[in-house]
Amino acid sequence: MPTTANDFLTALKTLYPKDQSLLTEQADCWAYGYDNSRRQAQARAVVFPCSQQQVVDTVKLCNQYRVNITARGAGTGTTGASVPIHNAIVLSTEKMDKIINIDPDNRLMVVEPGVSNQAVQLAAAEHGFFWPPDPTSSSICTIGGNLAYNSAGPRAVKYGTPRENTLGLSCVTGAGESLKTGAYTTKSVVGYDLTRLIIGSEGTLAIITQATLKLTPLAEAKHTIQAIYSSVESAAKAVANIMAQSITPCALEFMDATAIALVKDKAQLELPDNAQALLMIEVDGEQFGIEKMSQEVIRSASVAGVIDVQLATTKQQIKQLWQARKALSPSLRKMAPKKINEDVVVPVSEIPALIHGLQRLSTEYQIPIVNFGHAGNGNIHVNLLVQAEQLENAKECLSQVFALVIRLNGSLSGEHGIGLEKRDYIGLELDSVAISLMKKIKQQFDPLNLLNPDKVFPVNIET
Ligand SMILES: Cc1cc2nc3c(=O)[nH]c(=O)nc-3n(C[C@H](O)[C@H](O)[C@H](O)COP(=O)(O)OP(=O)(O)OC[C@H]3O[C@@H](n4cnc5c(N)ncnc54)[C@H](O)[C@@H]3O)c2cc1C
Repeated sequence: MPTTANDFLTALKTLYPKDQSLLTEQADCWAYGYDNSRRQAQARAVVFPCSQQQVVDTVKLCNQYRVNITARGAGTGTTGASVPIHNAIVLSTEKMDKIINIDPDNRLMVVEPGVSNQAVQLAAAEHGFFWPPDPTSSSICTIGGNLAYNSAGPRAVKYGTPRENTLGLSCVTGAGESLKTGAYTTKSVVGYDLTRLIIGSEGTLAIITQATLKLTPLAEAKHTIQAIYSSVESAAKAVANIMAQSITPCALEFMDATAIALVKDKAQLELPDNAQALLMIEVDGEQFGIEKMSQEVIRSASVAGVIDVQLATTKQQIKQLWQARKALSPSLRKMAPKKINEDVVVPVSEIPALIHGLQRLSTEYQIPIVNFGHAGNGNIHVNLLVQAEQLENAKECLSQVFALVIRLNGSLSGEHGIGLEKRDYIGLELDSVAISLMKKIKQQFDPLNLLNPDKVFPVNIET
């Protein structure tokens, strides 16, 4: 049996004979070695399969030569899960970008993993539907990446994450077996739910080659509300108040004072000087009831400390609000190149305690912390603006942030996943039995540990 690295590349070339379907030059592969975590690794090769069979053949070949495989969508992930450590090959889904079938009668769509989230939304909209997960990166990120990270966005508060909006998958396991999960129906209880298991598994269990997405009808009407507060605590209380009443907003986004200051001018937001926090709230539904719904939400947003709460009446106002929200991540990066971006989650009722605790840690460690995010899910993007000389201090501060989140009954990640960035912390949230079971599940899917090894789990945890 051939065993050298050159033998492997020669065999790989026979699987990918076409131009533009395989990269082996180091410089070419470099561009596929990073993600938005700013980590980078040199890929051994990059392959661009076009079919499930080509994925099967690739994984089988990698088993034969014991070569690691990192699946890659658009590389916009923030926790390093698509970085090809351990001399892995990158399996890019760039060429598997087709919408295979739209089935409005059954409210579903079948797609390949490399299609962008935006392309799915546009195609669904032609039939009066949408797919709820909507990361801010939707114009670039892929459905494969969305599923592998269980990525969501503002709409998750009402419509859920990929786990609630995916009916089934076609995949290839780490052993190179074709696997179908789920059903073509919205109800099914046959065996274990492998669909939900693979969603969120960050490319460590199987490579997704096709997904059946559950579509939701577009709402007839939508109202956007802007609420401004004199303190972060007031805004946090308003979030809990809004979620305690019967109308579920379809977006409930939060920005603290530093976040507002960063994007206020760029998005031409007119806000009073004493604005310390802002909520962007959207409600959707049928035309006849929307006015009543938004008034109800405005009433529950009007807690002590509110400066102003009103409906955005023009398209321009709504556009400016969303522009401001979307500009936050890139603006923060420019401000502090070493920023640490976490996406912790706490029960909505604990948001005031989280914000209070973060303010205390910011003062204690002398690290500015900027907070914004999907408050309706209690999912707050906590950004530590770290200067180069503060890196050690920042690590300690981060551990304290996670400890706070766990004390508040929260979770370390709402939508960005674990990857390489957070793998050393998962023991804070998962007990040893859970970690051990998860690692055994991985062994069943991927006996040689070739799919994204050393992602998600700390390398030093034995089972
Ligand atoms: C400006 C900006 C805004 C963002 N906003 C949000 C947001 O609002 N919400 C949010 O949740 N995230 C957000 N993100 C993070 C990121 O866009 C999402 O995590 C997205 O889902 C990643 O998709 P991708 O195609 O880039 O995947 P990649 O980064 O390429 O990969 C992500 C993971 O998926 C795996 N993977 C990819 N394809 C497959 C496949 N076919 N089979 C198995 N595994 C696969 C990879 O191995 C990796 O583990 C944002 C990122 C940026 C840069």
